[in-house]
Amino acid sequence: MTQTERNPRGDAAASAEPEIVRSGVPIVAIGASMVLAGIAAALSDGVIQPWLTAVAGAAIGAASTLMFGPTATARGAAESDGLRAASTSSLAHDEVLRSKAIEIRSGERTKLLDALGDAVVLVDLHGETRFANASARAMLGERAAIAGTRHAIESLPPMVMRAVTGVVAAGGTERRRIECALRDPGLTPVVIHIANIGGSEERLASIVVRDVRVERETDRIKDEFVAKANHELRTPLSSLRASAEMLADCEVSDDAQRVEFARIILTETDRLVALVDQMLDIERIESGMARADLGDVDLAALSSECVAEQQSEANRRHIALSISRSVRGATVSADRGLLKQVLLNLLSNALKYTPDGGRVAVEIDIDNLARSVVVSVRDNGLGVPVHAMPRLFGKFYRVDTHEKFAKGTGLGLNLCRNIVEAMHGGQIGVDSEVGQGSRFWFAIPMEQVGRKAA
Ligand code: ADP
Repeated sequence: MTQTERNPRGDAAASAEPEIVRSGVPIVAIGASMVLAGIAAALSDGVIQPWLTAVAGAAIGAASTLMFGPTATARGAAESDGLRAASTSSLAHDEVLRSKAIEIRSGERTKLLDALGDAVVLVDLHGETRFANASARAMLGERAAIAGTRHAIESLPPMVMRAVTGVVAAGGTERRRIECALRDPGLTPVVIHIANIGGSEERLASIVVRDVRVERETDRIKDEFVAKANHELRTPLSSLRASAEMLADCEVSDDAQRVEFARIILTETDRLVALVDQMLDIERIESGMARADLGDVDLAALSSECVAEQQSEANRRHIALSISRSVRGATVSADRGLLKQVLLNLLSNALKYTPDGGRVAVEIDIDNLARSVVVSVRDNGLGVPVHAMPRLFGKFYRVDTHEKFAKGTGLGLNLCRNIVEAMHGGQIGVDSEVGQGSRFWFAIPMEQVGRKAA
């Protein structure tokens, strides 16, 4: 999956333009407070974290204290050298906040605001801009930062202006949260926090806009995974239930049928166990829980062992299975059990997706340039269509035309990729042509041997 750069920002931020408000004590003070408010609001997205909300409220309070000096509270006056966020809601929150307190020197405040990934805009009661950080200029356009204009508010959906009016009218620590899409060509999904920044002379509101494209994409992938997992778990379960029901209701008259139903139950149970095991293995690797038990592994010897284990299945299918090329010194520092899992998976796939009477061969090479051992499993089977290539190592992906040819989980290759790439710093790939066959290969760096010895 390609990562989407969040809030790309042009460095050519027009610092020389006089009308763009970039500094000054009150603005800086508000800006710094909004960093805190923004961080708090953004972090509390989705999960309600009361202390973060309190930080936001206190940060806004600190800003108004600095901005409207004469009305500052005693604590605000005492802390006018910097901004300190503190909760007033409870003793427990106070303790958390004390440990989270942030001091910002004035010279760093504008830079800090410009470094923030969220767009931060300060507007008055009429929606006219008082301040906009670099991300606001990148997200809403350069004109959004022109002080005294409504460019920023007009580049946002109309409900934002209504929210500004609402929070300013309500006063206090009033704030609103809006989920919507920007009117840019890509309709970027955003979450917007609007907060009142009350003062004695002027009513202002902060608008913090967060681009949530990455979060939305992550949610979509998670939903897709859950839907697929649900489907893949239910299919063998329904088959198990139907077969067991037939046997239990004594609807099966002859022994041959009874054996057939028992065989279905065994096959589906094995498939279910494999599916759950693979899901758990992948989850352990992806969550960083899995640890490689490193040792010197001779990939030539390991390949011979795996080929021997698959020989009876190859014989049953009249497939010629062999090691067609091997080398000495194909030793890497790796987790033997995990690499065996990878090899067995690639071999059993090669056998599964090759018609009876075909050929499967393992080759072991040393890539001197990349300093790695490369193991390839070649077959002259079905091959993989070009359109399937990018998704082949994804979760639950199966080539649709292969489904009737052999049963599977669609997780094996994903687990292989996790083991090779995430746990051994290697690479995995495939070259294939439909109707001609495939070469699935993986490369494990040899340098790890040296590293381990050191
Ligand atoms: P499965 O349990 O379905 O085999 P994998 O993740 O191991 O799951 O493989 C994903 C898909 O990749 C398979 O369903 C099949 O369509 C395709 N595939 C894997 N190995 C081969 C191969 N050697 N030849 C052709 N297609 C293959």
